[in-house]
Amino acid sequence: MSDRYDIAIVGSGAAGLSAALNAKIRNKKFIIFGNKNLSNKIVRAPKINNYLGFYGMTGPEIKEKFQEHLDYMGIEITEERVNNIYAMGDYFALMVNDKTYEASALILATGMEYTQPLKGEEEFIGRGVGYCATCDAPLYKEKVVTIIGYNKEAEEEANFVSELASLVYYIPMYKGPFELNGNIEVVEDKPVEIKGGMKVDTLVLKDGELKTDGIFVLKDSISPGQLVPGLKITDGHIEVDRLMQTNIEGCFAAGDCVGKPYQYIKAAGEGNIATLSAASYLEKLKAKNKNK
Ligand SMILES: Cc1cc2nc3c(=O)[nH]c(=O)nc-3n(C[C@H](O)[C@H](O)[C@H](O)COP(=O)(O)OP(=O)(O)OC[C@H]3O[C@@H](n4cnc5c(N)ncnc54)[C@H](O)[C@@H]3O)c2cc1C
Repeated sequence: MSDRYDIAIVGSGAAGLSAALNAKIRNKKFIIFGNKNLSNKIVRAPKINNYLGFYGMTGPEIKEKFQEHLDYMGIEITEERVNNIYAMGDYFALMVNDKTYEASALILATGMEYTQPLKGEEEFIGRGVGYCATCDAPLYKEKVVTIIGYNKEAEEEANFVSELASLVYYIPMYKGPFELNGNIEVVEDKPVEIKGGMKVDTLVLKDGELKTDGIFVLKDSISPGQLVPGLKITDGHIEVDRLMQTNIEGCFAAGDCVGKPYQYIKAAGEGNIATLSAASYLEKLKAKNKNK
C-alpha cells in the first residue's frame, strides 16, 4: 500500500480542524500538521460571542470543545512544523524536519503571518537562507551560521547547529534566559537586512553587521509564499476562488491565510469547502490516472 496521503492539511486552527473532520467524514486518508494548543490564537481569545452555538466562551474553553470533537472522531494532530512544500505534478512533497510526506491534495490553513520577511530574506531562500536548521545544518560544517530565533524552541536547533558549525550567532527576538551551548554567541540586536552576492554573506543589524555563511529564520509559522514556491499571493493573502482552489492544481487554502475577516466561523466554513473541493479533485485525479 502506498504511503501517500489523499490530503495533507497544514495548520490546526479552526480552518485546518474543520478541513480534517470533513476529510474524516469523506473517508479520506489524511494527515493534519499543527500543534498541541491547536492554535495560539484560539487559546489567546478572551471571549468569543460570534461562533454559532458557543456563546460567551473563552478561547481555552473553545479549544477544549474543539479537542473533544477531534477525540470523538479519532483525529490526531501530527505535531510538526512543515518547512517546505513542493508541487510535483500529481502530488505534493511536504518537508518536515528530516522527513518527507506525500499527499495527492493539499490544504493550507496556516493562519496569518504577522511578522514580515526581512529585506533580502525571500531573495536568498535556498542561497543561504533557510527555515529548518536541523535539516540543513550539515551544509554548514565548519562555517559561520546565524540563527534568528523567534521562540524558545529555536534554541534547541541552535544547539544542534553549534555541534557542526565553526561559529553560531544567536539573535533572540524574545527575552531570555537562554539555554544555549557555551560556543554560541548571543547578539541582542535587531536584524534589518540580508545581503550577499550569489550567496548570503552579511546580516545587517540595527547597530552593526555580522559576516555569515548562512542564516536560519526560525519562526512559529512561515509565510505561505515561502512555504509553497509558486503559490499566488495577493495583498499578503493566498489567492483562492470560491471553491478555495489556489493557482496550483490540487492545492486549496482556507482561513485567515486567504483573507479577512479574521474570524473562527469563516475559517471553519472555508476549511469545510476546501475539503469538499479536494475530494472532487481526488475523484478527477483518479479518473485521469485510470485513463492513462
Ligand atoms: C486575541 C484574539 C482574539 C480573537 N477573538 C476572536 C473572536 O472573538 N471571534 C472570532 O471569530 N475570531 C477571533 N479571533 C480571530 C481568530 O482567532 C482567527 O480568525 C482564527 O484563529 C483563524 O483560524 P485559522 O485556522 O485560519 O488560523 P489559526 O488559528 O491562526 O491557525 C493556524 C495554525 O497553523 C499552524 N501552522 C502555521 N504554519 C504551519 C506550518 N508551516 N506547519 C505546521 N503548522 C503550521 C499554526 O501553528 C496554527 O496551529 C481572535 C484572534 C485573536 C488573536
